[in-house]
Amino acid sequence: MTRAIPTAFLDRDGVLNIDRGFVFRPEELEFVEDAAAAVRLLNETGYRVVVVTNQSGVARGLYDETALRLFHEHMQAELLVHGAHIDAFYHCPHHPEGSIVEFAIDCDCRKPKAGLLEQAVREQPAERSRSFLIGDREADMTAAKAATRNLIALLRTQRNLPDHRTCRALRASTDPRCGQRPAALRQRVQLQLHKVVVSAGDPTTEN
Ligand SMILES: [Zn+2]
Repeated sequence: MTRAIPTAFLDRDGVLNIDRGFVFRPEELEFVEDAAAAVRLLNETGYRVVVVTNQSGVARGLYDETALRLFHEHMQAELLVHGAHIDAFYHCPHHPEGSIVEFAIDCDCRKPKAGLLEQAVREQPAERSRSFLIGDREADMTAAKAATRNLIALLRTQRNLPDHRTCRALRASTDPRCGQRPAALRQRVQLQLHKVVVSAGDPTTEN
């Protein structure tokens, strides 16, 4: 069993890469401004970084899981150029209205359901008090709250700045291992990722 360590769960489209709607071609990868720096900061402070993403394009027949894996390999390679890396990728390929029979189901893993996040937490044990999720949609927040370990969730959109409850959570404990306040770290990472949204505009697609 892997040791439970502080973990940052990140949504992908709209958080790491600019959301153009069903991004899967390597050439469509464009990082949100400072996203790579945010991931590197997490890597350097001892956080495990885990991507948890809805990819209904698979169920819709727009791309298959091989193409998705290749995209993630490309993303990883590009992050490595910036001294950053993702520790694990998790995706939900399903959608109830998909055209690929195998994936056209009402699954338990598509956010806002908690299944994918719970699988990630099970396989990449997260030290709950210092772990958090950053997403750009209510579905991400709902999934984080619904997960059995009920993670701190940070919504990163233009319209939804952290509320008071989130701010309190951000001021939580200190992290003796990395010597940084996780609260301050989360805030820095979120600020780095937040800048993006302003330049990328509101996401309008539903992946
Ligand atoms: Zn699913």
